[in-house]
Amino acid sequence: MYQALYRKWRSKTFDQVVGQDHVTQTLKRQVATGRLSHAYLFTGTRGTGKTSCAKLLARAVNCENPQDGNPCNVCPACQGILNGSILDVLELDAASNNGVDDIRAILDEAVYTPATVKKRVYIIDEVHMLSNQAFNALLQILEEPPEHLMFILATTEVHKVLATIKSRCQQFAFKRIHPGDIAAHLLHISREEGIQLSDGGAALIARLADGGMRDALSLLDQCAGSGEAVDEERVLSCLGLAGNLEAAALLESAAGGDLAAALERLDGLYANGKEMTALAGELSALVRDLLVRKTAPRTGSALMTGGFDGETLKRLSARFDTARLAQMLNRLQRTAADLARSANRRTDMELCLAALCDPSLDPSPAGLAARVARLEQGGAAPGAAYGQAPAPAPREEAAALERTPPPVPKREAPAREEAVPRELPPLPEEPPLRDLDAPPWTEPAPQARPAEEVPRPQPQPEQAPAAPEPAEEQPLPAPQTDAPGWPGWPAFRDQLKGLLPVSDYSFISSSAMAEGRFDGRKLTLWVANEFLQKQLSRSEITRPMARLCQTLTGAAQPVDVQVGQAPPEDVPPAGGAVDPLEAFLGQGGSNIIVE
Ligand SMILES: [Zn+2]
Repeated sequence: MYQALYRKWRSKTFDQVVGQDHVTQTLKRQVATGRLSHAYLFTGTRGTGKTSCAKLLARAVNCENPQDGNPCNVCPACQGILNGSILDVLELDAASNNGVDDIRAILDEAVYTPATVKKRVYIIDEVHMLSNQAFNALLQILEEPPEHLMFILATTEVHKVLATIKSRCQQFAFKRIHPGDIAAHLLHISREEGIQLSDGGAALIARLADGGMRDALSLLDQCAGSGEAVDEERVLSCLGLAGNLEAAALLESAAGGDLAAALERLDGLYANGKEMTALAGELSALVRDLLVRKTAPRTGSALMTGGFDGETLKRLSARFDTARLAQMLNRLQRTAADLARSANRRTDMELCLAALCDPSLDPSPAGLAARVARLEQGGAAPGAAYGQAPAPAPREEAAALERTPPPVPKREAPAREEAVPRELPPLPEEPPLRDLDAPPWTEPAPQARPAEEVPRPQPQPEQAPAAPEPAEEQPLPAPQTDAPGWPGWPAFRDQLKGLLPVSDYSFISSSAMAEGRFDGRKLTLWVANEFLQKQLSRSEITRPMARLCQTLTGAAQPVDVQVGQAPPEDVPPAGGAVDPLEAFLGQGGSNIIVE
């Protein structure tokens, strides 16, 4: 009959116990010197070696020929205990024998000296499950135990054990086993068993076992069952964790700022019955692992817990900085906590994804911190782009679209790793041609997106100006038109998002309150009333606008804020035809001299 690996490879001596040296060294010394206690309490999470050590100790104290505190495993006493024929060593599972009568039965027997070995040993597993009465009965004998008696109590929940019991026991805390130790042990066993286990597979199983050797061996058993080589892929598919890769793909979309792709993926998962709470948990685990990997590249692997392969972690890790990961983890944790009370989990998850794709949609301090960190690092956020005038590089997807220049103004889009060399000013070869069929600027909706784009919420058309669009619900910015530099007000406005204080941006984002016009030299902001004029004339509003305008058009003029109705936008000026040379010179500014 096949014997499970964890039983077959149960430690035979204290020296074989993995990762619990602080316990085994002490026990060995006690056995060797004969300074034994009459009661032990082994605590720790499951699968860390408590029961193994209890059995070892029961043999060691009865062994006729102990080897430096270890049981010899060959003498009749050791053999008898190993094969269960010696009834003086008794194992009891308190989970199923938790009544006072069970304990009384033991105690009645306990007074007799053992028949074949030196000590009568009772191993009581999961001792915290005993009823109060049973605990009290146990307490009686622990207070004045006969010389020939030893109790070894084991529990995963030490806080449920009565203090009066604890105080009569020598307590040993079993630690979670270090994943490195688990992996090494798995590889050793695999060599002995003829299982082809890769290093990556061993590391992944060790992470999943969460410090428990028994769990690790059971997982290995499961993965090796088919006789195939056990690598990371095999582990993930065998343990039903292939879905984790979906979480990784979602995060990949977030890295690219691609909300459409993320939502599409979420929709697929939802349709397949994926539990949103589980998904939030997987994403949290993944982001946490990435954060650990980022902050502690060398020692961090011991702290990682998620079921993700090394390649995925490596790839994703390169795409986020620490502040962004912290923001994402924060957001995911909040979402996971809120999901339990949520009326519509899917919507909550979608909102969360939106915030992951675009930190400017996350108004929490963590979200702001992530954005500030990006700005400080320079270059990644659009806000950083206007300093040296390079425009944010278009993302791969954006580049694939027909109308690229100037870039799609997504906050997080141009992650540094994928940034293609930036060139500025964008060459205006195309604009004049395209402008002929460009729609008038007063109707921003039709130009919002090329036809092949995945449908997304469109910006509200200006015909319905009554409803100001809150910044948080702003759909993703529209791609640019073909006008040289100036992208048109709606697109320009979208690029401003994140550069301005959220409360002020809500004024700007409403076409009923503010409309910007660029006349080829200067940006004028037309606002509805004096209050808004005062509010939006502050330098923290006008300066970012002027800088963005300069980045896009090369026109270095202060922004003018006027009360009144904006003229119909007309880009480029004068009947839709612009001299490409003139536009080009406009971009180059004073650097180009025509002789
Ligand atoms: Zn022995």
